[in-house]
Amino acid sequence: MTDVLTNAHTHLELTGLAHLCPTEPVEFTRWIRALIRERARLTPADIRRGVEAGIEELLACGTTHVGDITATWLSVEPLLESGLRGIVWLEVLGLNREKALDDLERAKAAIERARRHPASDRMRVGLTVHAPYSCHPDLFREGAAWCREADVPLCVHLAESPAEVAWLTRRTGPFGRLLRRLGLPISPAPGLRPVPYLHALGVLEARPLLVHMVHVTDEEVRLVAEAGCAVVHCPRSNHLLGCGRMPLEAYLAAGVPVYVGTDSRASSPSLDVRAEVAFARPWHGDRVPAEAWEAMLARPL
Ligand SMILES: [Zn+2]
Repeated sequence: MTDVLTNAHTHLELTGLAHLCPTEPVEFTRWIRALIRERARLTPADIRRGVEAGIEELLACGTTHVGDITATWLSVEPLLESGLRGIVWLEVLGLNREKALDDLERAKAAIERARRHPASDRMRVGLTVHAPYSCHPDLFREGAAWCREADVPLCVHLAESPAEVAWLTRRTGPFGRLLRRLGLPISPAPGLRPVPYLHALGVLEARPLLVHMVHVTDEEVRLVAEAGCAVVHCPRSNHLLGCGRMPLEAYLAAGVPVYVGTDSRASSPSLDVRAEVAFARPWHGDRVPAEAWEAMLARPL
């Protein structure tokens, strides 16, 4: 068997937006604004070309397992046909409750269909509820409950930016400006930090794969460990989007399984997880030995 090399977090459909990848750290919500604008200009043919280019890049750097998020669902078929192993998660999001729950129903039906594909034992199909600042709480509750019941893998972007923490706890910071500009509904603050917020909604019980996980307390790391969740470290994306440094040492000490991911080409210079490790090693220094990095890369998804 070939050696496992896992990239646990990509958005292959954004491969064509590599020009958005910052060269110096930027403020997170400014990058999201640019992403929303540029993504709207992509045609389905552009997206398909991006997915194909992304799969080629993954294979060229020796990747065997991938975790991919698809908002357009256009990466599902190419990934099922690619020979790669891993999980492709269909993304749902939305702050408008009715529309978000309708989209969830459509995603559930698409996941059920994709699960009948003969390659779906090699490339599983899951659900991702995007992030706490972009999703109605009922989308989290219902999406997570269905994933538990139907034994479908769940993935969430969580505790990524300082802006996310400010928004959830106090409704302050740049997310207010962004959501108002987009004309989105703003509900009262849950008054909870990202991890306790998802815990309160029952989401951790579905054991989601938690991506980013930069802004956490020691107690929240324990909560994640107790829930049996794994996390994904995306060091270059976190650095370039001004999000900071994940407390990797704390997760490893608590026994939380950690994966490495590149995130999309719109926030990372390549899809090569070994380049992520080369960037992150000086960040974490001697506290994370070489064998621990190898174990993160060789963990099948
Ligand atoms: Zn992501």
